[in-house]
Formats: sequence, C-alpha cells, structure tokens
Amino acid sequence: MKRRHEKLFLRVDPILCDGFGHCAELAPDIVDVDEWGYPIIKDAPLDARRDASLASANLAVRGCPRQALWIERIANTN
Ligand code: SF4
Repeated sequence: MKRRHEKLFLRVDPILCDGFGHCAELAPDIVDVDEWGYPIIKDAPLDARRDASLASANLAVRGCPRQALWIERIANTN
C-alpha cells in the first residue's frame, strides 16, 4: 500500500490582497514583499516538521485583514 503524503503551501488571493504587507511581518521566513507591498510567497512546501514554518504560515493566515491567505494541502502518493 502506498503511503499518502501531504504538502502544504501558503497561498494568496491577489484580488483580495490590499498589499500592505502585514503577512511579511508575521511570517518573514516565508513571505517577502514586492516594491508595491504585495506578498511574494516562497513557492516551496511548508515544512510541517519544522514547527516554526507552519506556525508562521498559520499566523499570517489568521492575521491577514483581508482573509486573502490560506494553506493549501496537496496530497500525493509516493
Ligand atoms: S496580510 Fe493579507 S492583505 Fe495584507 S499583504 Fe498580506 S495577503 Fe495581502
């Protein structure tokens, strides 16, 4: 039987985002901002084994005033 794995990614809805960059303050290890203040999110899976990475992502999701962030779970079988 194949073991099921999940990869977690922090995602942003660019339509909802207001570009004030609060998420980059909450999760500086995952989010940068561009020159206009819009988030640039690392396109690498969150490392669920590293509590800090997932905790930062959760902080950003909860702290986003526009509810523009979410954590996407992508299942794969390897
Ligand atoms: S906190 Fe939310 S609204 Fe603000 S820049 Fe980040 S994603 Fe956009």
